[in-house]
Amino acid sequence: MIKGAMLYEGKAKKIFATDQPDRVIQYFKDDATAFNAQKRGTIIEKGVVNNKVSERLFGLLESAGVPTHFIERLSDREMLTKRVMIVPIEVVVRNVVAGSLAKRLGLKEGEAIQPALIEFYYKNDALGDPLITDDHVRLLKLAEPKVVEEIKRLALKINELLVPFFRERGMVLVDFKIEFGLHNGQLILADEISPDTCRFWDQKTWESMDKDRFRKDLGKIEEAYQEVLRRVCG
Ligand code: ADP
Ligand code: MG
Repeated sequence: MIKGAMLYEGKAKKIFATDQPDRVIQYFKDDATAFNAQKRGTIIEKGVVNNKVSERLFGLLESAGVPTHFIERLSDREMLTKRVMIVPIEVVVRNVVAGSLAKRLGLKEGEAIQPALIEFYYKNDALGDPLITDDHVRLLKLAEPKVVEEIKRLALKINELLVPFFRERGMVLVDFKIEFGLHNGQLILADEISPDTCRFWDQKTWESMDKDRFRKDLGKIEEAYQEVLRRVCG
């Protein structure tokens, strides 16, 4: 596998071409951003944690029949993936009230949500990734209706698989954000699943073990990421 030119540099990762046109390399950086990139910083060794945690979770999902872009981990910070056309929808699945949901609807943080809630956000940095409805997805032609249904089905299936996985490791999967892409016409899970894109609370203490420690300046950020790595991959 030959690493080619950088195709895209995002907030947390770089995407590189390879000698195969339908494959790309994701390079995981230590750069951290929050609140639509108004807050910036570095979380030491975050890239390594996110790469390895994503590898483990993509592997788990694949073996349960969820198609993902993951092919193999190449190094501490690099993962080989299928190249996709990203569906510009950030799909959020929530099991417990937290973050923007609490703020927007005046709900109390920590309350269980049953059954799990799915939200769509328009993946558009210039607009600040606004919350959108299915009708907005149709208006903006972000995805065909049958693709939207498949996204919802897969998102709930992923949640069903991840909740017990984390519970067994002493963690509450509060919510998470995923991105899907189209690869040869097939909808597959892409991007990453990591402490950057999930909220995990320790089952005993309810302490955040994710990017909320950075967002809210809670300290012990690197320690929390290492603890997630230990529990997920250790
Ligand atoms: P962003 O700042 O947009 O969140 P990231 O730093 O997360 O970007 O970099 C990853 C970018 O690559 C994202 O825009 C993501 O949608 C996209 N991406 C993820 N997986 C793939 C893939 N398999 N093929 C092509 N693009 C991908
Ligand atoms: Mg991203």
